[in-house]
Amino acid sequence: MSAGPEGIVRDEIRALSAYHVPAADGMVKLDAMENPYTLPETLRREIGDAVANAALNRYPDPSAPALKARLRRVMEIPERCDIVLGNGSDELIQVITQCVARPGAAVLTPTPTFVMYGMYAVFCGMRYAGVPLKTDFSLDAGRFLAAIAEHKPALVFIAYPNNPTGNLFPEDAVAEIIAAAPGLVVLDEAYHLFAGKTFLPRLAEFPNLVVMRTLSKLGLAGIRLGYAVGRPEWIREFDKVRGVYNVNVLTQLVAEKVLARYEVIEEQAKNIRAGRERLAGRLRTLPGVIPYPSDANFILARVPDAARAFEGLTRRRVLVKNFPGHPMLGPCLRMTVGTPEENEKLVSALAETLAGH
Ligand SMILES: *Cc1c(COP(=O)(O)O)cnc(C)c1O
Repeated sequence: MSAGPEGIVRDEIRALSAYHVPAADGMVKLDAMENPYTLPETLRREIGDAVANAALNRYPDPSAPALKARLRRVMEIPERCDIVLGNGSDELIQVITQCVARPGAAVLTPTPTFVMYGMYAVFCGMRYAGVPLKTDFSLDAGRFLAAIAEHKPALVFIAYPNNPTGNLFPEDAVAEIIAAAPGLVVLDEAYHLFAGKTFLPRLAEFPNLVVMRTLSKLGLAGIRLGYAVGRPEWIREFDKVRGVYNVNVLTQLVAEKVLARYEVIEEQAKNIRAGRERLAGRLRTLPGVIPYPSDANFILARVPDAARAFEGLTRRRVLVKNFPGHPMLGPCLRMTVGTPEENEKLVSALAETLAGH
């Protein structure tokens, strides 16, 4: 008898579906929180020259000192903290989860939130518990604190701001959760530049806090670079578990070049924040559409018939994110803030769809 995956691959893996990435060819792509802007010509040329001269025959430097030094300066990383780099912050979620996955240990998150926290908990054989947000997607701090007491989680993930809801939980409530948690708390600040809020300066206050970020939502989704910042005692452990050469030569090089011109990214983020406010205002004028408050580069909105709206938008070549069958997000669509032209296309396509054209 030859062995197939049944009975060999773990049941909980077989029960999962792979993360689905829909085709987006020729569409206005507003489903994945990418930055719609390109880099200035001079910077692109500089990157081209650097890539042309890169030592592609050599393994990358596993400690990436130049890139870390640049990150430290640009992101104002506290001196006494260390940095671990990942192939996207996705990889860091995996690494951190693996580090704490003792038999019986639990991962706790608010829900709905970024789905990868729960996926990696399952991959690593951990217990996963989600604490529901209130119906308006605000944090139920009392319920979260009770869940901490009940589950005693080894690991808490909080996205700050949260994805897919877009809101930023109150700083005081998050601080209270960190202080109450018996294990590690990872604050995922993937959208910090759109929120203007961060716990980085407060790392010294909380020995169990790690702040994780990514360059993906800032305009560099294609190079896959995430980083986590915390006390050296934590970072040392994560460093053992990540792939030694997890951040490739080209990623290190391009990230350094772009971070050297961080004002470009900041300017783009400023435009996106302004675009977000305009888009929210336009969405509010559509019948039955209720945008939720956002501190990120996307907007979650309740729409009258999400399945029909999604289908109508797709037919008009606008790709957003829907959540079919989800108990809380089912009636909603998540829309990335694009360029003003893209936002306008989104609004007019949605208006047409709602009018039943
Ligand atoms: C997009 C996103 C990530 C993933 O970032 P990568 O660095 O591209 O892997 C992590 N956390 C949250 C909350 C996100 O929305």
